[in-house]
Amino acid sequence: MYSGVGSANIEDGITIDLSRLKEITPAADRRHVRVGAGNLWGEVYSRLESLDLALSGGSASGVGAGGLTLGGGLSTFSPRSGFVCDTVLNYEVVLASGAIVNANANSHSDLFRALKGGSNNFGVVTRFDYPTVEGSFHWGGTTIHSISHRSSFLDSAFIDFVTDPNYDPYSNLIHNYDWSANTSWLIINNIHYTNATPYPDAFDKFLEPPLLFNSSLRTAPVSSFADEVDRSDTSGKLNNPATLTVRPDSTTLNRFLDLNMAAAESLKAIQGLSWNVLFQPLSSSMLTNKGPNVLGIDASESPLVNLFVAAGIVPSADSDWQADFDTVREALKSIIAEATTEAKRLNVWHPFIYLPYAAAWQDPIESYGREDVAFLRRVSRRYDPRGVFQRLVPGGFKLW
Ligand SMILES: Cc1cc2nc3c(=O)[nH]c(=O)nc-3n(C[C@H](O)[C@H](O)[C@H](O)COP(=O)(O)OP(=O)(O)OC[C@H]3O[C@@H](n4cnc5c(N)ncnc54)[C@H](O)[C@@H]3O)c2cc1C
Repeated sequence: MYSGVGSANIEDGITIDLSRLKEITPAADRRHVRVGAGNLWGEVYSRLESLDLALSGGSASGVGAGGLTLGGGLSTFSPRSGFVCDTVLNYEVVLASGAIVNANANSHSDLFRALKGGSNNFGVVTRFDYPTVEGSFHWGGTTIHSISHRSSFLDSAFIDFVTDPNYDPYSNLIHNYDWSANTSWLIINNIHYTNATPYPDAFDKFLEPPLLFNSSLRTAPVSSFADEVDRSDTSGKLNNPATLTVRPDSTTLNRFLDLNMAAAESLKAIQGLSWNVLFQPLSSSMLTNKGPNVLGIDASESPLVNLFVAAGIVPSADSDWQADFDTVREALKSIIAEATTEAKRLNVWHPFIYLPYAAAWQDPIESYGREDVAFLRRVSRRYDPRGVFQRLVPGGFKLW
């Protein structure tokens, strides 16, 4: 959905539509679930809720299980169980040869690891087997604040949350700054606790600044939170994304926000423009729990913060939206370049580029580091010697 042109469909080519692969089969012992690759997270959550189960998946109900899981996957469960890909028990994959294999810890274990961050480079995954988590009611919701409280969050609450030595792994949040011509800048927190305990201490500082509107904090089924995040994303929007990883440092986070605010201000004449800046913790507990993935992050470097910007345009018949889209992309390139320079100067830069949030002009695979990239190339040559997924699937982030 943030993936670049040609990665999920293509003009004058073949699109493989997985949307009818709708299997969702919980195991008899309730401990894992088979999920067909055509499912959206909302469908998975709703099905599991009927058994009072949940799993580690995406925050928005309309996002597909496939792209998110294959690129890593940031979940409300991440502080408990790492990236979504870390939790996957088995991948059913159609290889370039047409053979169907199951990749797991005991069979095709090299492919199993390569798929944990290797994206669309190894085959078409038709099914993911995930572990389930007991209990489908969580506590959380959205709080909206005036931009005047920015310092309470970026200089204090957010940094304290990420760096808390007693980080509560049930707590997770996305700290957002949203701009549109109608609303100007707003601070939006998606607060989430992965059990039904209301108002856990972890969020105390986030609840201090006054609210602009009533919050939606509540105890509810997981699907209700995923629907809420989904509703906040304007449909029909073309997104220009970009991302960066840094250590928790308020100067750098503020600089990133300032650069985005300045860019939005200078481009505000663009019709249908919106600007969304997200700060997400990559907590120590999350990175310590990571499985045998290829993302190349060393747990000793944690905690980290994912910085993400999605600048959207709603195309209209009377606008030159393609030119506008290109203009915004160039602005994001400058923002990432300047923020990177600043983060390096402050010694808080981290090389990791999170693939599902990366722009087509970024190189997330290379960011995994030399060893993991060499491993991915070896596995690719073993399972796809003719490079079908390198050349015939031209979009996305390639290995060779
Ligand atoms: C509203 C919104 C909320 C989001 N929330 C989160 C979040 O909470 N956490 C997070 O980590 N990311 C999140 N994302 C980013 C999301 O992970 C990416 O957009 C991801 O690419 C979505 O996957 P998809 O299958 O829906 O997209 P697609 O565009 O269909 O696929 C993305 C890429 O994966 C490949 N791919 C997909 N399925 C398969 C398969 N079965 N086999 C082989 N290759 C496949 C495609 O070829 C393509 O290259 C969000 C995005 C949006 C728009």
